[in-house]
Formats: sequence, structure tokens, C-alpha cells
Amino acid sequence: MNTELMKKLSNIEPYVPGEQPKGEGIIKLNTNENPYPPCQGVLKALKEIKADSLKLYPDFVCKELKGVICENYPVKENEFFLGNGSDEVLALCFKAFFNSEKPVLFPDITYSFYSVWTEFFNIPYKTVPLNEDFTINAEGFLTENGGIVIPNPNAPTAIYEPKNSIENIIRQNPESVVIIDEAYVDFSEEGSIAELIHKYENLVVVQTYSKSRSLAGIRFGYAFANPELISVLEGVKNSFNSYTINTVTRILVAEGGKDRAYFNECVGKIKKTRTRLTAELSKLGFKTCPSSANFIFTTNPEIDCCKLFEYLKTRKVFVRHFDKPKISNYLRITIGTDYEADVLIKEIKGFLKEK
Ligand SMILES: *Cc1c(COP(=O)(O)O)cnc(C)c1O
Repeated sequence: MNTELMKKLSNIEPYVPGEQPKGEGIIKLNTNENPYPPCQGVLKALKEIKADSLKLYPDFVCKELKGVICENYPVKENEFFLGNGSDEVLALCFKAFFNSEKPVLFPDITYSFYSVWTEFFNIPYKTVPLNEDFTINAEGFLTENGGIVIPNPNAPTAIYEPKNSIENIIRQNPESVVIIDEAYVDFSEEGSIAELIHKYENLVVVQTYSKSRSLAGIRFGYAFANPELISVLEGVKNSFNSYTINTVTRILVAEGGKDRAYFNECVGKIKKTRTRLTAELSKLGFKTCPSSANFIFTTNPEIDCCKLFEYLKTRKVFVRHFDKPKISNYLRITIGTDYEADVLIKEIKGFLKEK
């Protein structure tokens, strides 16, 4: 291609999502999806969707869906924003709230999409190194900045930063928007800080139906914040694409949010498997960060974990490895079913024997 033409093209370095391998007998523990199916209400609603309804643009008011969210969280209808997966919600938040010459702050080891979005929107940023034990360095966020984004629990460490520490960061940064990405919060003991949006006008809390609600495939996420921030976010969205919640998603999400008993059951099972898997790995010499998520971040100082990652792939067990400083000997493993945990342990034992 000619160089003048080349110069006009984007050279952005994209986020690399985990593989979506297909085929028989694959154990997929690499993208933090939920191993359990969506609740019965979702399956029933799916069957009842009329093809004819799809000829129209989606209803962007989403009244029923908003009602379900209001029942599950202490928020009013003008205090939240809906989007096509929380990735979209977060990206629009970056555009809406990070408009300063000062750098936006996030942890050095965190969700790798944050640095991609800052590049995408030309936002200056600075990373705050985690502490030695991979916990958030809260002090590091008490410096001049153009905004803050922190996942809680953090990814890929799975470590939950206590509410009082997060609240302190929000309180000490009244002139910046602080985004707390709660993609995994349903798997934690302390839970969400959603109610703090009534106390702090600079707080945005983002959640998703992709992990704890078993609905990654329909793409649904949302943000809680005070009505003023929400209306700015709506403005940004409507400057780009007004119809982000498609008709099928709107109907299924409304159902997916209703069945609390099933939701609690699935989350409970995942936590139990998490405890068991962590203990089994410990017997094999692995050190695992304390997890409040549906995945664990683990290392074994005696072995090359990248080799283990490659070996597991040949055994059709997919986990995640990040070839990055400080974490290159760690694996991030999604918590699947008990059966999947058993297969994983069996295969790791096979690797250790061959070694
Ligand atoms: C999975 C994940 C998201 C994005 O989830 P969506 O599927 O886009 O809703 C956002 N933040 C973190 C930290 C995640 O791990």
C-alpha cells in the first residue's frame, strides 16, 4: 500500500480477547464466562420472541428492564445507564468523563482494555503500581489526576479492595470522576458500592450481565451514577449510536434479572468450586491470590507456568496467560463446574509428572 494512504489509517493497538475455541470436549476456563446456563425465564422468553418484532428499531426507553434493575439495586430510573456490554459502557464513560490534560490513573496490572481506550480517545494516563502482594496501592490514587478507573475486584488478580479504601479514594478526589468497574463484584463477600452514588457526585459504578448472570452472549452492561453524570453519558451515547440495546437483549435481560434464587444458587456453586480448586492447587505447590471473583490468579514458583499454559491447551483445557512484566509466571483460571475443575487438576498433575 502507498505510504501516503497508510498514514491516513489507524495504527491503534487493539485489546486481545481470550480465544473462543470450538469443538468437542473443550474445557474453556479462559474468558471468565459462567459455566451455568441462564435462568429458565430467559429460555422461555427467548422462545416467545416474535420475529416480526425485529423489523422495528429497538425500544430505547427499556421501561421493564429498568424496573428490574431498580428492584435489584437501590437506584432510581434516572441514576443508571444501559449499554451493549460493560465494555461499551466503560468506553463511553472514558469519552464522557475523562477530558483533562492531567493523566487518568489506573493500576499497572489491571483490565487491559483501559489503556486501549485511553489511546483510542487520546486521553493521557499514568499507571499506579500494585503493592508487592498485588493489592491496590490506594495511596497512589491520592495525587493530581484527570480521572480514575479501578476494577473491584481487580482483574486479573481477583483481589477485592475493601469498601472503606475505595470510598477514601472517591472522597479524596472530588474534582475527578472515579469509575469503579464491578464486573466481578457478585462473587465477593463485601459486595457492591452502588449505594455510594447517593453520597458522591463523582462516582460511577459499572456492572455487567456477562459474568454472574450467565449472559455474556447477549452483551449487556450498565452504569450507576447521579443523574447529572448519567445525562452526560446519554449525550455521548446519542452522539455515536442511539440503539445500543437490541430488542432481543432488552427482553432477555429483563428476565435474567428476575430470578434471584437461581442467581444466588449459581454464584454459591462457583464460590464453592473456587474454594475447592484453590485448595487442590495449593497441594500441588501453587500460590493463589485471595479471590473474590469467578476466576483465580495463581502461580507455581517451581514451574514455568507459560509452559503449563501451552501444555493445557494441547489437552484441550484453555486458561489465560499474560506475557507481561511481574505476572508472566501466573495463570488466570476461570472457575467452571466441579467437573471442569477435576479435569484441570488431573491435567496439571499430568504436566507435573512429565516435567
Ligand atoms: C469482563 C470484563 C468487562 C466487560 O464485560 P462485558 O462483557 O463487556 O460486559 C469489564 N471489565 C472487566 C474488569 C471485565 O473483566
